[in-house]
Amino acid sequence: MSEEIQKPPYQTVKGVHDILPKDHEYYTFIKKVVRHRCRQAGFRRITTPVFEFTDVFKRSVGDSSDIVNKEMYTFEDKKGRSLTLKPEGTAGVVRSYIQHGMSNWPQPVELYYIEPFFRYDKPQKGRYRQFHQFGYEIIGESDPALDAQIIYLSNKILEDLGIDQLFTLQINTIGSAEDRERYAAAIKDYYYDKERYLDEDDKRRLENNPLRILDSKNEDTMILNQSAPKLIDYLSEESKQYYQELKECLEELDIEYQENSLLVRGLDYYSMTVFEFWDKTEGAQNAIGGGGRYDGLIELMGGQPTPACGFAAGMERIIAHMKREKVRVPQKDDLHVFVAQLGVEAKKKCLPLIVELRDKGIRTMGALGKGAIKTQLKLADKFKVPYTVLIGLTEVREGTAIIRDMKVGTQKTVPFDEVAENIMELIGEENLDTYSPGELVY
Ligand code: AMP
Repeated sequence: MSEEIQKPPYQTVKGVHDILPKDHEYYTFIKKVVRHRCRQAGFRRITTPVFEFTDVFKRSVGDSSDIVNKEMYTFEDKKGRSLTLKPEGTAGVVRSYIQHGMSNWPQPVELYYIEPFFRYDKPQKGRYRQFHQFGYEIIGESDPALDAQIIYLSNKILEDLGIDQLFTLQINTIGSAEDRERYAAAIKDYYYDKERYLDEDDKRRLENNPLRILDSKNEDTMILNQSAPKLIDYLSEESKQYYQELKECLEELDIEYQENSLLVRGLDYYSMTVFEFWDKTEGAQNAIGGGGRYDGLIELMGGQPTPACGFAAGMERIIAHMKREKVRVPQKDDLHVFVAQLGVEAKKKCLPLIVELRDKGIRTMGALGKGAIKTQLKLADKFKVPYTVLIGLTEVREGTAIIRDMKVGTQKTVPFDEVAENIMELIGEENLDTYSPGELVY
């Protein structure tokens, strides 16, 4: 008879997860790559609050988007103000750009972020209610060469993460606001006698933001979209020229791309360039990230007319791809040394030794357990350390310590003062975990 397994009384909320140490190795690695590549390209880090006034997202992401309509974690604070956990990064950055007068900084302002986001999405593979994105924005300048640089940076990061080959870069232009107005009218005309084939979501899209119907995942709509008027035919000469230049810049940078006239992105604020990295096998369903130009957004949010362009990628999906491809990240969590001791005197002597070992870059577990030396050695084995330092009554009396090689099972006695030196030699200078926070200036 199988025993019923009792669940612990408290569990995480549906759709959110603990990040346990093994997974943190991936998050840490991704953060490192993003920080490094962004810094090289002149981006500086920004962190906006986890929640904002709801209007920040309603105004920017747009009333017709799925995010605002269905997916926001919105609540009232004690004074009845409507607040929302941030579902994406650009709105907060733009709010901050305007609030802090960043238009007075040298332009363009280049910012990047690595943060958690929250969407009341239906939890499933690659779709969670708390997830993490890294992203970046270039605000204050409009040029296809900047769009190309953002795309290049994104590609470079995927390359550093060992997964660039899994994706295709999809690009499109959705033109200027005027282009889209003309096109929206054409789309509405086209769907005039086809509304009965549309589901409720697509009907709403057609009404509020006809362009978004191109983004539909409904099969009937997808078929109808194939014969719908093409945005490219409604672009002004200027928009066409911008798109053409973008493609030339990408070619100059040796970036492969696929033109996709149905790509519009799910948020209302885009203009001109839009792009996404699609999974080669699963396509848009498993996109890793996307971005584009949003020239009208800063003005819409109350700032001076200011062009901008950005990108964001989902870290959980990146990690899933890395794992699937068996990409292992360098990890530095493995311990070098376990310190085992017997008796109060030995324990006291161990404390400064543990500090010294750590300061020298030796990762040291100083559990200082109370059990017999044998028990402590078993524990050291479980922590998978290559070396254990043993100090008992005899060693305290003689001013020595024993260093045990855990793999081979041999041990040697060394003067207490030379323990650190011996261990450093054993693990090799290149494996030391030395750390310098950098010079402080007073
Ligand atoms: P979006 O701005 O919606 O295109 O999101 C950019 C990227 O963030 C997507 O391509 C995903 O990699 C990731 N992402 C978006 N929503 C979620 C979610 N609910 N769970 C996990 N990752 C997400």
